[in-house]
Amino acid sequence: MAGALIVGSSIQEIREALGAVSSLEGEKVVLAYGKAAENEALSKLGVKVYKLNSSHPDHIVKAVEQLFEKFKPSIIIGWITKNNRAALSYFAGLHDIPMATDVTELGIEGDHVVYKRGFLSERAIAREKIPTPAVVLINQKVFAPVEAEASAQVEEIHVEEEKVVLKEVKPKMLSGINLEDAEIIVGVGRGFKKKEDLQLAFKLAELLGAQVGASRPIAADYKWLPEDAWIGISGKRVAPKLYIAIGISGAPQHMAGVMNSKIIVAINKDKSAPIFKQADYGVVADLYQFLPVLIKKLEERKKK
Ligand SMILES: Cc1cc2nc3c(=O)[nH]c(=O)nc-3n(C[C@H](O)[C@H](O)[C@H](O)COP(=O)(O)OP(=O)(O)OC[C@H]3O[C@@H](n4cnc5c(N)ncnc54)[C@H](O)[C@@H]3O)c2cc1C
Repeated sequence: MAGALIVGSSIQEIREALGAVSSLEGEKVVLAYGKAAENEALSKLGVKVYKLNSSHPDHIVKAVEQLFEKFKPSIIIGWITKNNRAALSYFAGLHDIPMATDVTELGIEGDHVVYKRGFLSERAIAREKIPTPAVVLINQKVFAPVEAEASAQVEEIHVEEEKVVLKEVKPKMLSGINLEDAEIIVGVGRGFKKKEDLQLAFKLAELLGAQVGASRPIAADYKWLPEDAWIGISGKRVAPKLYIAIGISGAPQHMAGVMNSKIIVAINKDKSAPIFKQADYGVVADLYQFLPVLIKKLEERKKK
């Protein structure tokens, strides 16, 4: 048993997972599903690629099963995303295969995978070892992507459809914003008192060329922003150059999603808010007083 099966729904994810297993011996095979299956860059990955025209976890499981049977990889690897988590944990459970998540370093020692992972909302790091074959879910933007381009054999993979009758499809409220690739993110939290007040954050984001993300209550409880703006341990993990947290207390579940930011700036009216312990720069101020001044200054600077 050697090699790796890379499972992903974006080219960046696939390249990073290939980077994570670059030192591993044996054949590397890619299962590209969902959006990645339509990407022309698949033909330049330099490894065998199977594309699956579905993002449904049940279909991913079936495709992984087929490829696992065929190639017998030591590692099945992808980013920690909702679909990967759902499909690969199910696959691991079904086949009694060990699984590691939140992985930030990875190696092989004999027939074991050795890795580091964050736990306690990324406030501690564990070094662990599990036997192969193993499912490994890696954090985004931690492993250097494989950038080399070489032609690849791309084939479609077909899975048996479930005999489920689809009665209705309800569209999810999504903004289409891509927080994962954003260089600057303005994060909004419960410090904002009403939905309309988020305009202050959107104005700031526009001036900075930033995207707007949110703490869980804003996206999940109040539904002031779509679900894809939700940052944190149960939302998205982001790694911008600059994260500006406004009216966010800094709960560990939120901070786990932003810990890979290069610089964190916190704006909070409570000087003892936990976020100040993790921020590089802190502004103790009422956002309703501070943001209009900051926006005005940035507008003036833009005019010059
Ligand atoms: C299993 C589990 C998973 C979770 N996953 C996530 C997750 O993925 N992401 C996430 O974000 N949370 C998550 N949470 C929730 C998390 O624990 C916190 O409750 C949440 O992050 C708090 O959001 P907040 O900082 O916006 O609100 P609060 O904690 O209420 O903080 C609001 C902050 O705004 C400040 N403020 C108030 N008014 C102003 C003002 N006028 N000007 C400036 N500052 C002001 C306050 O001082 C306060 O610090 C999870 C919780 C659990 C139990």
